[in-house]
Amino acid sequence: MSVLVYIDQADGHIKKSSFEAASYAAKVAGQTGTTAEAIVLGKVSDDLTSLGRYGISKVHHVADDQLNTMDSKLYTNAIVQAVESTGAEIVVLSHNVNGKAIAPRLSARLKAGMVPGAVSLPDTSAGFVVKKGVFSGKAFANISLQTSKKIISLTPNAFTPVQQEGTAEVVPFNATIVAPAVKVTATNKVKGEVPLSEAELVISGGRGLKGPENWGMIEELAHLLGAATACSRAVADAHWRPHHEHVGQTGGSIAPNLYFAVGISGAIQHLAGVNRSKVIVVINKDPEAPFFKAADYGIVGDAFEVMPKIIDAVKKL
Ligand code: FAD
Repeated sequence: MSVLVYIDQADGHIKKSSFEAASYAAKVAGQTGTTAEAIVLGKVSDDLTSLGRYGISKVHHVADDQLNTMDSKLYTNAIVQAVESTGAEIVVLSHNVNGKAIAPRLSARLKAGMVPGAVSLPDTSAGFVVKKGVFSGKAFANISLQTSKKIISLTPNAFTPVQQEGTAEVVPFNATIVAPAVKVTATNKVKGEVPLSEAELVISGGRGLKGPENWGMIEELAHLLGAATACSRAVADAHWRPHHEHVGQTGGSIAPNLYFAVGISGAIQHLAGVNRSKVIVVINKDPEAPFFKAADYGIVGDAFEVMPKIIDAVKKL
């Protein structure tokens, strides 16, 4: 059962979640006695041979300019061709924005069973069973994949990549790219804004900040750290912040390395969107705030006193 991992990239750089997916794919390959290969689409500036450090033996690179912008149809097409060419039976992707768009298309095209949002390695002792989170991470389901081809999208931060010695062989892959029905002609990035869905650091504010006029300290800390800004639904509903910043069960679901929550109570619906963060820091003046139970670090204090001190300390770094 050979394994193919799709390596997602942004602006030519491999995303952190793709290193996790690569390492996961190598482990799955090890379990099934085969090797893991990778597919990379579009122009990349990172050194693809370095994927060898994550256990990838060969990288198939489709350097077609039409793939420089993500298009789920074109990407699916190219990956299907790579699956056919390599004979891969298991495809691994990251369960990020792009992975969520590509994996179901791949599943339909390859007639492959799929586990979206896997959180651990497959159990191959009795079939091929993969664990995933359900009910906003409150429970787990073990999914038995019965098809010969299998698709697994890996939840970001659920698997720690293992680094080893190694260099991957990079080979060009000539996929046939048919002209898309719809073409992205331009992507206008908001200046200075880090996209929330892919952010490694997120500074988030809640109703405890009292009003939109007090968001300066959230933005200043985010700017100093190169972080994205987010908010609770209560804040977005009050129109203090734009709705695309709202995270949680009914908002965006994120998995940054650091989630910094200021004046947010930590309601279960909010946690549903942020509980995959690696490290959670909570500032709340109420020691009984539920968010402290989910926090790695907690500061009991008034945000209006604590935040300026943190900003000053970061400025001195
Ligand atoms: P509050 O609950 O009002 O909490 C404010 C916090 O700030 C309190 O803990 C308080 O102690 C603290 N505080 C006050 N002053 C200060 C200060 N000066 N310094 C420090 N701390 C201070 N919510 C989401 O966020 N995302 C969702 O996706 C979402 N989906 C929902 C879906 C459903 C079906 C429902 C019913 C609710 C949903 N909610 C969601 C709403 C959720 O239940 C909470 O109401 C909401 O998250 C509360 O936002 P908050 O923590 O900003 O405000």
